[in-house]
Amino acid sequence: MLSINQIPVLQDNYIYVLCDPDSGHAAVIDPTLAAPVIEFLAEHRWQLTHILNTHHHHDHIGGNVELKEYSGCKIFASSYDAKRIPGVDHALNEGDQIWLGEHAITVLATPGHTLGHIVYYLPEHAALFCGDTLFAMGCGRLFEGTAAQLWHSLQKIMTLPQETWVYCAHEYTEANARFARSVEPANQVLRERIAEIITLRQQHLPTVPFKLADELATNPFLRVTQADLQNQLQMQGASAVEVFSHLRGLKDKF
Ligand code: ZN
Ligand code: FE
Repeated sequence: MLSINQIPVLQDNYIYVLCDPDSGHAAVIDPTLAAPVIEFLAEHRWQLTHILNTHHHHDHIGGNVELKEYSGCKIFASSYDAKRIPGVDHALNEGDQIWLGEHAITVLATPGHTLGHIVYYLPEHAALFCGDTLFAMGCGRLFEGTAAQLWHSLQKIMTLPQETWVYCAHEYTEANARFARSVEPANQVLRERIAEIITLRQQHLPTVPFKLADELATNPFLRVTQADLQNQLQMQGASAVEVFSHLRGLKDKF
């Protein structure tokens, strides 16, 4: 099995390093900065072979060039982003597979936050690295795509096994939880989850990764077809995309 390592950087970014003990090779997902990754690799004597980018925003690619110069690794990004991320070696599309040693990493296209956004799924590890598409109790802002595109992308994630661990790129959970509570005040599972999250953050512990099953029960953006949420928003009978779009607009102003 790969080991999955989380490096918190800047205000709220998470960099992930996947390490294969059989080959000694490592892959880094969305290296915001190079220095903390180099420090980790050197300390544990891993050889960096892959940079996997979820999208082109600077807080996800900032360390790319320096890490490539340091290690000679290859940079992987979506075919859409290959033109706008410097130094990309491999352009990826939906369904492509990448190998780290004998471990398969599957690419899913998830446009919405940006048009070129992709996520990396490791079925064998029940792990999803989803960048800025899905957050704990929230989702990415619509910078380039439409509400319909992001809702479609989230539905793709919702069909993965419920026991999947979701590794998102930001610690936005507390603010997302406040918004979720405002739109689903009667959701008891949500209340319990918020209590757990407050305890974790008081101890300066990460709330990421989290289980997809917990998202389905508490993330309002995944619950736009639920009658209770629609009633609360006075949108009974509206389409999922309409509710999703309205919710995204409310969160932007929250
Ligand atoms: Zn982003
Ligand atoms: Fe980001």
